[in-house]
Amino acid sequence: MLSYRHAFHAGNHADVLKHFVQVQLHEYMNQKDTAYTYIDTHSGAGVYALDSSFASKNAEFDTGIGPLWGRTDLPPALAAYVDLVKGMNPSGKMRYYPGSPWVADQMTRPDDRLRLFELHPADSKILADNFRKAEAHKAEQGERSRGKRVMIERGDGFLSMKALLPPPSRRALVLIDPPYEMKDDYRKVKDALEEALGRFPSGIFAVWYPVLQRMESRQFADRLKRLPAKEWLNVTLTVSTPGPDGFGLHSSGMFILNPPYTLEPMLREVMPYLVKVLGKDAGASFVIERGTQVTGAAAARVGAGGSARQPVGNARRASPLSGAGSLRLPGQAAPVRAPAEPVDARRPDGAAATKVGAAERARRFSRPQEAVPTGEARPARRRDNSGERPDERFDPAREPSKAPRARYSDERPARAASGRPTAGRPDARGPAGPRKRG
Ligand code: SAM
Repeated sequence: MLSYRHAFHAGNHADVLKHFVQVQLHEYMNQKDTAYTYIDTHSGAGVYALDSSFASKNAEFDTGIGPLWGRTDLPPALAAYVDLVKGMNPSGKMRYYPGSPWVADQMTRPDDRLRLFELHPADSKILADNFRKAEAHKAEQGERSRGKRVMIERGDGFLSMKALLPPPSRRALVLIDPPYEMKDDYRKVKDALEEALGRFPSGIFAVWYPVLQRMESRQFADRLKRLPAKEWLNVTLTVSTPGPDGFGLHSSGMFILNPPYTLEPMLREVMPYLVKVLGKDAGASFVIERGTQVTGAAAARVGAGGSARQPVGNARRASPLSGAGSLRLPGQAAPVRAPAEPVDARRPDGAAATKVGAAERARRFSRPQEAVPTGEARPARRRDNSGERPDERFDPAREPSKAPRARYSDERPARAASGRPTAGRPDARGPAGPRKRG
């Protein structure tokens, strides 16, 4: 079942965490001259237009990249990520948001390789179109084409990854970012990593995951700690206390196997800032854990539901508590723990309590509908046989019965469970190609 469309969530707090960490991983890989392969098992569309009907439906970017946009006090590591996003919006208006393939394209060097997988027929086509336009733009600028630098495949990233490992250069950065709309995704990530580590133990593998009340999510990080990688690092960002109804995505994590030594100190600098700027209430917090593989009896205990916050066995070498932290906003009480009872329904519009209204959004980010800033190609408005613009054919804002499917299987779509945005396509086409950074 392919109903998830990332365009609904582009630029939200989970994307901020994921893409900011991704930038840091590329920075580390770029420290050595030897080329590397970037593998994106779940690529999405590559670029998202924030004024499309998909992205603006819940405007999740308003509580993600939005609050960072105008800040002048960004920690340098976070500024590198925000600058990358700004690089694709040369007009200064926040109009496009990059997906992980675009982040990779900007961060990698001419000899590095990008291997991008996307299963959804519409998103894989948009992804290919976006890269085709970017290549054309680069050619116009006189950049030499690198034939096999970027390869995009409509296929199953879990299965395809293994054929690429180990890469010829023996250097690889892998991002695994499935929808988790099927609980099977948790198991598939773990199985795929197990196999990948067997083939290529020294690769850097980064996994994004939602922190939810459902069992699979709660046990997920502990399961990854048992994988046969030398070291792991786990960072979570919680932006608010889940409400009693349990709706919305309040927290997500990045789990990195074989993390660069530079990552933890950098996260210690940046995560308090993210909590301060993106946090909505006293539940806003971050956790940084790192350690070595949990094995033997310790693994059994963790697997049986033991908490990662209780180091056992070999995990004593980890410092799971050392990175835990939360930053209280002025006047707020101590962080409140998430409710213990399982939550079986979430809605895709995220936490509604502090959702910014349309007027405030308009004030904060004026997004001209038609103006195309210099240097940005206008997103293609292709017409299909029906003669309608693809994003006119299905507008979830106007068609409540076709509400998007939530990203996670313990979420409940806001209106109709059967609704899915596959009848149309998001206006996710991006600029023809911002100049490569650096
Ligand atoms: N990594 C992207 C980013 O950060 O911009 C977002 C990816 S989105 C969360 C997950 C994507 O995985 C969706 O576009 C979905 O269609 C795709 N997908 C789902 N199952 C897949 C599979 N087995 N192989 C490849 N892609 C898959």
